[in-house]
Amino acid sequence: MERIFFCGECRKFFYADCEPTVYLCTCTHCGSGLTISCDMDKLTYNRFDNDEKNFFKNKIKDAYPDLVSIAQEQDERRQRIGQMEERERARREELVRIFQIAVTTGDVKQDYAIIGPVCSQIHNRTIHPNEFNRKLQQYHRDISDILSTGLLSQMGNDYSWLYGSQTGEDCLLEIGSLIAMQELKKHGRSMGADAIICMRQNMNVDMGNPNNFSLQMYGTAIKYK
Ligand SMILES: [Zn+2]
Repeated sequence: MERIFFCGECRKFFYADCEPTVYLCTCTHCGSGLTISCDMDKLTYNRFDNDEKNFFKNKIKDAYPDLVSIAQEQDERRQRIGQMEERERARREELVRIFQIAVTTGDVKQDYAIIGPVCSQIHNRTIHPNEFNRKLQQYHRDISDILSTGLLSQMGNDYSWLYGSQTGEDCLLEIGSLIAMQELKKHGRSMGADAIICMRQNMNVDMGNPNNFSLQMYGTAIKYK
């Protein structure tokens, strides 16, 4: 989408097909790199009458009176993008750590301290179908985010079948179990757990429609010594 950019060097406006977050887009008039996006797309701008266009342009010119102000704005945007990327990286690493929490129906041999019980539940019965769909979509996003980190292969598992076109209606219950498991790990992680032992689950399935179910999963969160 073409957006309006302002050049601090020649103080002219130009259109460019750059993302609004871009802090360096070469001026089409003078070739300067001291330009900023004005947070306005071409279509919206062209719907303005002349007075509105002038008002908009003057507002931008007033906001950035000199090259220093443009350079500062570029710097701030650069930092904001850096912080956003940093937060996103931290979020993905956290997702991977959650996936790596071990869950077992038995005990573990390693010495550990008990943190406490942890549980999760999920259902797609008629009362909350949206909640299930919301979780399912979140889960798909999490999986594709985790895959994008490239760390998943180290876990010796491939969850890729779980997202995309292969996720059919027929395996909702199976997916439900995996979501409940992921929620259990999330709760465990928030308590500082390394693993969850003695996991059990209660499942209620509608015999008339196996895709109507509720599922509770619980276990004991532990921390290795
Ligand atoms: Zn210019």
